[in-house]
Amino acid sequence: MTVLDQMLAANHEFMKHLPTEYACPTKQVCKYPKRQIAIITCMDTRLVDFLEPALGIARGEAKMIKTAGNSITGVFSETIRSLLVCIFELGVKEIFVIGHEDCGMMHSTSQSLIENMTARGISPDAIAMIKTELEHWTDGFEHPVENVLDAVHKIKANPLIPKDVAVHGLIVHPHSGEAEVLVNGYEA
Ligand SMILES: [Zn+2]
Repeated sequence: MTVLDQMLAANHEFMKHLPTEYACPTKQVCKYPKRQIAIITCMDTRLVDFLEPALGIARGEAKMIKTAGNSITGVFSETIRSLLVCIFELGVKEIFVIGHEDCGMMHSTSQSLIENMTARGISPDAIAMIKTELEHWTDGFEHPVENVLDAVHKIKANPLIPKDVAVHGLIVHPHSGEAEVLVNGYEA
């Protein structure tokens, strides 16, 4: 059975037992985040179905933006674009950058990525096209705590982000779920 088959079988079961509140239009979860927050976090598999319960975030309450290493890579990067939609169209008033201990991006280097890409047949021309940005991104990631502080700083310094949006920085443990506040956006 392929992963797709497994998903479709799970979907079939899910639809059969869909909780009634999901199907009832008056009880449907709104697309606007109820708690008016956006969370930028890592794509780490250990955070799937874990980060939200660890912080008491329920379905319908937050916008979740996930990337490798929750970094901010540019003034109009994909993450910033998502934040602009969150803030200007979906009512988001607070941003949480949430990194985690033992982030895989600490060990990822441009050199190993390029070697693996080359081994899989990616052309040197294509690699040359992204090499500088790739180096800046992967080799610039030294520690998850510093990376959260850097991301918070970049969001706050971004001229596209309104000054009244609170930007918080947290770090969580991927096994215990324990969260530590690095930047309290209410005090900044
Ligand atoms: Zn990570």
